[in-house]
Amino acid sequence: MTDLMKHSPNSPILLTASLHVDEARKAISELVNELLQESRKFNNASDVESIALDQAINRILAEDLLSPIDVPAADNSAMDGFAFSGDCLGSGDSPVTLKIVGTAYAGKPYEGAVGPGECLKIMTGALMPHDCDTVIPQEFTESATESAVSFKQGQVKRGENRRLCGEDLQNGKAAIAAGRLLRPSDLGLAASLGIASLKVHRKLKVAILSSGDELRPLGQSLDTGSIYDSNRYSLTGLLNRLNLEIIDCGIVRDDPASLKAAFIDAASKADVLISSGGVSVGEADFTKQIMQELGDVGFWKIAMRPGRPMAFGILKPVDASSRKTLFFGLPGNPVAVMVTFYQFVRSALLQLNGASQTEPQMTQAIAQAPIRKKPGRTEFQRAIVGRGPDGKPMVKLTGSQGAGILRSMSEANCFVILPHDQGNVAAGDWVDVALFDGLL
Ligand code: AMP
Ligand code: MG
Repeated sequence: MTDLMKHSPNSPILLTASLHVDEARKAISELVNELLQESRKFNNASDVESIALDQAINRILAEDLLSPIDVPAADNSAMDGFAFSGDCLGSGDSPVTLKIVGTAYAGKPYEGAVGPGECLKIMTGALMPHDCDTVIPQEFTESATESAVSFKQGQVKRGENRRLCGEDLQNGKAAIAAGRLLRPSDLGLAASLGIASLKVHRKLKVAILSSGDELRPLGQSLDTGSIYDSNRYSLTGLLNRLNLEIIDCGIVRDDPASLKAAFIDAASKADVLISSGGVSVGEADFTKQIMQELGDVGFWKIAMRPGRPMAFGILKPVDASSRKTLFFGLPGNPVAVMVTFYQFVRSALLQLNGASQTEPQMTQAIAQAPIRKKPGRTEFQRAIVGRGPDGKPMVKLTGSQGAGILRSMSEANCFVILPHDQGNVAAGDWVDVALFDGLL
């Protein structure tokens, strides 16, 4: 158990003092690591499966992918031009003139010899004959007839415009390292090596549930004081980006018996349970009681906005055949759910599933207007990043930033992340930005 977990679930320290987001992230990562080591359950042989390349997007590679071939498989031309031996290149001023003895196309090699004073018309990707080591690109030549080509000395150096056998990748070397979250380029790379299936970690099973007496499912009319449950849909969207198995446990009422039954059910089926609601000060005592019986869970007050209360820990195995379940009790506010998912849950899921790179990518942009910020907490503002009039990346906040205002999230294309110690931001300051959508 991590130090933070040791204090849980009743430590007064955790309920009064705020936890820095970095401490929370560290505690989560340590616990996930313990879980991985303890049972080795997520990266042993039974947790690896072989899948077809076209199904592998966003899955996590379980073993280094070794190249069965050299890439390129043989020396070939990088340009359309003329291939010859660098021996023909002199040092004087007189142009080089070479006799054209034939043509080599990609997929149709030239079989003959190319002697001194001779060259071969060659297309990009065509095999280089053994007696040639240099290609002069077509556009660097002075004159070319059917039978001869000339170019000035100094236009090309020996060995240029030739791709060497094994230059990209050598036979037996790792083309993609284990732990890679597979992207489109990885699938293309595997295909270029003739590999049709990949060994990946099995999909994590992630259960989601929403807790709150006020929540209604879609399709039902709203009575006074009730609202539609939106969190399960935001969470489903977030989880679908990670290509894992979602177990929807629906809406659970705020009563101990229903919550307990729902947690036990989820723990019996899933590797991870993500709930939303029921961890704020008014409701935490109630949830805490249940968690004491079912597992070891800390109730955190995190120095962040939005997303301050959060529960995190382990649900005990339900029976001898089941395993521990990682538990995230996210706050109920719809924006806070997405922020805490981004900041804590996403990395943990990737880590648990064997990914080597789990941190989200960040960049920077210039604040178009001042942003108010209190030191002492990390803030995640919803914003739109684009280009300013000078062409530099510029970011502006999307309207009201209340934790319940999902529209601010829907209109945004990024978070502006203002670190713990940061005070007010002036217009023109550079700020950290995390984009919602990756391009590839
Ligand atoms: P709680 O964390 O349970 O105190 O909830 C905080 C706020 O988020 C309250 O206004 C809840 O009504 C709202 N909320 C909780 N769960 C959901 C949900 N699943 N969908 C939409 N709003 C929710
Ligand atoms: Mg509630």
